[in-house]
Amino acid sequence: MNHSQLAAQFIKDDARTDWHDKALWFVRYKRDLQTKKVPEWEDLRKLASQIKANVLSNLDNYLVQFEENAIKNGIHVHWARDAHEHNEIILKILTDRNVRKMVKSKSMLTEECHLNPYLIKNGIEVIDTDLGERIIQLRNETPSHIVLPAIHLKKEDVGETFHKFLGSEKGASDPNYLTEVARGHLREQFLTADAALTGVNFAIAETGGFVVCTNEGNADLGVHLAPVHIASMGLEKIIPRQIDLGVFLRLLARSATGQPITTYSSHFLKPEKDNEIHIVIVDNSRSEQLGREDFRKSLYCIRCGACMNTCPVYRRSGGHSYSYTVPGPIGSILAPGIDLKKHASMAFASTLCGSCTDVCPVKIDIHHQLYKWRQIIAKEGKISFSKRTMMKLMGYFFSRPKLYRFAGSMVRKVIPVAPRFMLYNKMNAWGKERELPQAPKKSFREWYKSENKASNNEQ
Ligand code: SF4
Repeated sequence: MNHSQLAAQFIKDDARTDWHDKALWFVRYKRDLQTKKVPEWEDLRKLASQIKANVLSNLDNYLVQFEENAIKNGIHVHWARDAHEHNEIILKILTDRNVRKMVKSKSMLTEECHLNPYLIKNGIEVIDTDLGERIIQLRNETPSHIVLPAIHLKKEDVGETFHKFLGSEKGASDPNYLTEVARGHLREQFLTADAALTGVNFAIAETGGFVVCTNEGNADLGVHLAPVHIASMGLEKIIPRQIDLGVFLRLLARSATGQPITTYSSHFLKPEKDNEIHIVIVDNSRSEQLGREDFRKSLYCIRCGACMNTCPVYRRSGGHSYSYTVPGPIGSILAPGIDLKKHASMAFASTLCGSCTDVCPVKIDIHHQLYKWRQIIAKEGKISFSKRTMMKLMGYFFSRPKLYRFAGSMVRKVIPVAPRFMLYNKMNAWGKERELPQAPKKSFREWYKSENKASNNEQ
């Protein structure tokens, strides 16, 4: 199903749509408050954008520098061309060490690579330890937001899920109680895991170390209790120097949740004695995106989610209406590069209002890129038959002024008397949820002419 069909399912529940919209707008509002407290906010955005431009122009050098320094620190570095290689590498690390259970903190890259089902199929128990991720894992769902994976659920839904899977009291929905239940359940998982996996927010070429940001401390608990730490990293996560880190840490949490800083910014440099750290650097189509001049800036993304929180379409259609792991405006730029046909509708899930571009901490020109994808998608003929036909028809009329004027006068006469099925049908997607306005008696041109004549007469 395409975006609008999936969105139609989401908006069937009016109350949920309203609540989802307000919840995300509140996060956007908190972000605004925080950014206003930093006088140099715009300078930080500019600097972050420049650092990312430098990284992408020298990506090969920075990646090699990172690898050399990481190896010096005792970290094992692996390279994965695609999702399958990433999953194979991780499975091999786990099976070579007889790992039966792995705990995992939030990593959108592993979602992108579908790591969980792959490992489970190969006999490894995988437990997501981020609270939102654990909730959706129990429900067998995918994240609907990159920072707030369970934002589509209410506390009552969580209560039901915990009652079914974790044996909490039936009907309980008090957040404190539910958090205690989750804490008890997850402690046991941490204590019995043989390996821990984290994502990577920033990898520092200069030191070979990396940083993982969480609000729950689950990444730290996992990696400090298990002897093996695996970190999955997209190759664009590199920053050149330790000193650059402050720029991104200040931008990330404020943009994501309106916090001045993420609760835990954990720095990993080398394994503890007798422990191992493995880092898997993944391409999975990123280098192709790097080669697309119009879209390479999408690789600046630090996955803060601010473009989703502000997007009027995302807020009212929910993350599951997008066909890719990363939903919302940034996902709609990344996804067509991976599979144009499958994700063609995503670039149209936008009003092109530009609010995403305004809030993006690394200054990605998101709405311009969406517009560019639309042009490519239309040229490739990947838009629906009804839209294609209507656009051709409109183009025909717009390029023939006389015919356009005649058609306009006819339409104004026909609309008020036409049977409903002629106006509201499959060809009129706009009219699905809207009534046409009353047709004016005169066209704008006629009105303008008569007004002009009247004012000339007065003079
Ligand atoms: S595109 Fe910008 S606003 Fe959207 S998630 Fe990435 S960094 Fe954040």
